[in-house]
Amino acid sequence: MRERLKRDLVDLMLIPGLSGHEDRVRRHIAGLLAAEGVESRADRLGNLIATFPGEAGAPSVMVFTHMDQLGFFVRKIEADGMVRVERMGGVPERALASQAVLLCVGEGRDVPGVIANKSHHATSPEEKYVVLKTPELRIDTGHGSKAAVEAAGVRIGTPVVYRPNAVELAGGRIAGTSVDDRAGCAVLVEVARALKARTGGPTVHVVFSVQEEFNLRGAVVAAQVLKPDVAIQIDLMLACDTPDMADRGEMVMGGGPGISLYSFHGRGTLNGVIPHPAAVRLMEETAAAEGLTLQRSAQVGVLTDLSYVQLLGEGVVAVDVGFPCRYTHSSLEICDLGDLEGLTRLLVAALGRIGPGFDLTRGA
Ligand SMILES: [Zn+2]
Repeated sequence: MRERLKRDLVDLMLIPGLSGHEDRVRRHIAGLLAAEGVESRADRLGNLIATFPGEAGAPSVMVFTHMDQLGFFVRKIEADGMVRVERMGGVPERALASQAVLLCVGEGRDVPGVIANKSHHATSPEEKYVVLKTPELRIDTGHGSKAAVEAAGVRIGTPVVYRPNAVELAGGRIAGTSVDDRAGCAVLVEVARALKARTGGPTVHVVFSVQEEFNLRGAVVAAQVLKPDVAIQIDLMLACDTPDMADRGEMVMGGGPGISLYSFHGRGTLNGVIPHPAAVRLMEETAAAEGLTLQRSAQVGVLTDLSYVQLLGEGVVAVDVGFPCRYTHSSLEICDLGDLEGLTRLLVAALGRIGPGFDLTRGA
């Protein structure tokens, strides 16, 4: 399983898919599912959905993860050909100078570029520790004129992402672009393979959602139609085993999959999730039965699209699960293949435990 997870993850990391422009990622995942004999469909927003029908009496489940990634949109092309952009999603501006990017004008025609960083020899002491805001950045594509950039297909509104990149590190760790959340996609493809081969169990809708990084928009549309009783969301969890993160929690890379007991953005939409006790119980009991370590997360500053999904209809039994991730939203995020494998096993086993008797109440 690990080799297949690695292959799927690396392939997915190398496909650009800014929010609202996930089509290439969706095509790739639909192809992976089709190769397993799993039919999938796309909805109007672009969510990719595969349904595995199950026992009529059991609660229905939606397991979802997002296909999109953060980045930029082209705002303006200067006369000298420098491309100016707007930020899309939680882009860390202090990690942008001198990054390689890809302007996505079409498969096979994408335009590489570099975020300009003023020549160091000419940088004054005052400038040295200043972070430029996204609107001040310039992307150099080498074209040298507005006309040449436009002739290459770049226009206002063109999606821009970190140049897709995947690096295999020691110890089963993968670094690169969009580990958030192509790692979740790779896990969910593996879960779909297991669902294809299962006998019995609940109806499961596997959803690869869109526009999560653009303020959590896609999954809620899928859930509105699918009306699941239980929603399980897969995304990164903050690894806290580097010195800069030590105060934030106890989650370690390679320590196994995680469950979130509390997430709250603390700004913007003020969204977050406090998971349903039935879903927490399910994950804890499954982990214990499978001999998996289940790491725990409670964080302000993070949130997922489950925030909206949990509130649909009469309310959905909801929980966030995930994998530890380092250096989130930078161009080189890191995850651990063992954690992805553990997360896959947790999900497959948890789904197998949801039967007609699964208790959707909050308990005594
Ligand atoms: Zn994410």
